[in-house]
Amino acid sequence: MYGWKKRIRRVRPYVPGEQPKQRKLIKLNTNENPYPPAPAVERILRGFDAEELNRYPDPSSTLLLDAIAGRYGLGREQVFVGVGSDDVLAMSFMTFFHSQSPVFFPDITYSFYDVWAETFDIPYRKIPLDKDFEIHPEDYAGENGGIIIPNPNAPTGIDAGREKLEQIIRANPDSVVIIDEAYVDFGAVSLLPLIEQYDNLLVVQTFSKSRALAGSRIGFAMGNPELIRALWNVRNSFNSYTMDRITQKLGAAAMEDEDYFQTQLARVIASREWTKKQLRRLGFSFFDSRTNFIFARHERLSAEEIFHALKETGILVRHFALPRIDNYLRISIGTDQQMREMVDFLDRYLADH
Ligand code: PMP
Repeated sequence: MYGWKKRIRRVRPYVPGEQPKQRKLIKLNTNENPYPPAPAVERILRGFDAEELNRYPDPSSTLLLDAIAGRYGLGREQVFVGVGSDDVLAMSFMTFFHSQSPVFFPDITYSFYDVWAETFDIPYRKIPLDKDFEIHPEDYAGENGGIIIPNPNAPTGIDAGREKLEQIIRANPDSVVIIDEAYVDFGAVSLLPLIEQYDNLLVVQTFSKSRALAGSRIGFAMGNPELIRALWNVRNSFNSYTMDRITQKLGAAAMEDEDYFQTQLARVIASREWTKKQLRRLGFSFFDSRTNFIFARHERLSAEEIFHALKETGILVRHFALPRIDNYLRISIGTDQQMREMVDFLDRYLADH
């Protein structure tokens, strides 16, 4: 009976943060940028000729590749693009982690990594961070089928620094080491310059956070041409047209407006530093975030209680019911006004609880 049921592939999917329909909520739960993308993005959208959509998009996204390569001083053959860095990372798992040895990543990290490993039947091992959630390079010395580390780490916000990561890359010349730099623009140091030196290093970044284009879905990888070619080959064995015509143009325009990028980054960083001071005053402790979020716990109240109190008043943050981090809240940095409203609410709430 129903033999097809046995043939269904059963997977445990990643659960993204809520995207509620209500506009009035203060949404600090998925690390989006609170500001609009570069002004040229709107100009392109308004001027876009719908007639163009009868043709397939450029399968190699050349316009966008050149904009990225130009910004980072690379050749086109050193860049791969995908539909969000989730797509780039999924393709990278398939392309580079194709072995019987376990892929290593930290125990506290982006919770999509183990989902991809399971989906693609890739063995993996979670390497524990220390009690302060710091990484120790010597823990990554064992036999492995690849390594992936976000820097700064998510959801802790901690920047491991170039030295420790370089030590891991150097100690593993037979493995591809992926550094997921989704949040690097908010004040950490990118390992991008090291791709010239280490042919096993792949640096992955995204337009979703620092470039305020989460809704368009653009991510990219940078590395030596052989890694990049391998990624295109795997991508082209699935679907050659993943990135649509509009997105390619919007991404190129966003990448070209450096002034807007820098101004808007500085605003987010200033709000983050203001929020840190306020949270400290309110009895929260947290790590030195180099991202657009703060991972904080309260000295008295549980993260779960604060999460629900905030939600009830219309402020959405993220709480992970996971070992070691279930007493923390991840609070994305919104506008100054939004952060002020959150702090005002916490001031009142903590006074009575
Ligand atoms: N890496 C990390 C560490 C993230 O937090 C995220 C955001 N959820 C991503 C990758 C994926 O972002 P996107 O697909 O929007 O580029």
